[in-house]
Amino acid sequence: MKKNIVAGNWKMNKTLPEGLALAIELNAALAGAQPNCDVVIGTPFIHLASVAEAIDTNKIGVAAQNCADKESGAYTGEISASMIKSTGAEYVILGHSERREYYGETSEKLNSKVALALANGLTPIYCCGEALEVRNANEQNTYVKNQLEETVFNLSADDFKKIVIAYEPIWAIGTGITASTEQAQEMLAFIRGLIATQFGHEIADETSILYGGSCNAKNAAELFSQPDIDGGLIGGASLNVADFKAIIDAF
Ligand code: PEP
Repeated sequence: MKKNIVAGNWKMNKTLPEGLALAIELNAALAGAQPNCDVVIGTPFIHLASVAEAIDTNKIGVAAQNCADKESGAYTGEISASMIKSTGAEYVILGHSERREYYGETSEKLNSKVALALANGLTPIYCCGEALEVRNANEQNTYVKNQLEETVFNLSADDFKKIVIAYEPIWAIGTGITASTEQAQEMLAFIRGLIATQFGHEIADETSILYGGSCNAKNAAELFSQPDIDGGLIGGASLNVADFKAIIDAF
């Protein structure tokens, strides 16, 4: 059965005490609750161990926002998948458009990152999505197809089953412009169709595909009501417990 997932991406926000307080507040808000989705928070690296220690990780999964494309060694400043796993984190967000755009993440690097994440027992939340020019040219399907074909479609079926896909149109990230429910559903159905062609219908039906891009407490319920939208990757609205909890409760 595919899972519904609401995953927060804190990006480069919150000092360690602030992040810990946010995680503890969310943990308290979910104590006794039975959400109809898995809940994940993607924190900066330095928060991972403290957050995983402070919350009930059976209720809230912890995600890193990146990992190194190398296993270990002389790569100053990098954080490996095994280091992430050792903090108690279970997920890693990979291929976010901000990393592709500002840190030169190529498909080749992402293939290494995905492989290392899987080898270390982390669940990749693999992001894809087009820029505004691509959408305006109505080339978003080809663009997203290429992004997937160059990376996660090279996985074995067994490995592909372990990943989560997040479609995040770049024009909707942090802009307050949400893709319309129809645009989001249409793209997620298209992605599920691609997965079915590549790996078969059973795997396609079991893959969790998330929408991300200005998803908030007001629009989440309508987005999540769509047959192919299995949850959200949430940036800004994950920095506030009331908003994030309202998105979780939208399921
Ligand atoms: C994101 O960056 O993953 C994201 C979806 O951001 P926001 O919700 O702020 O648009």
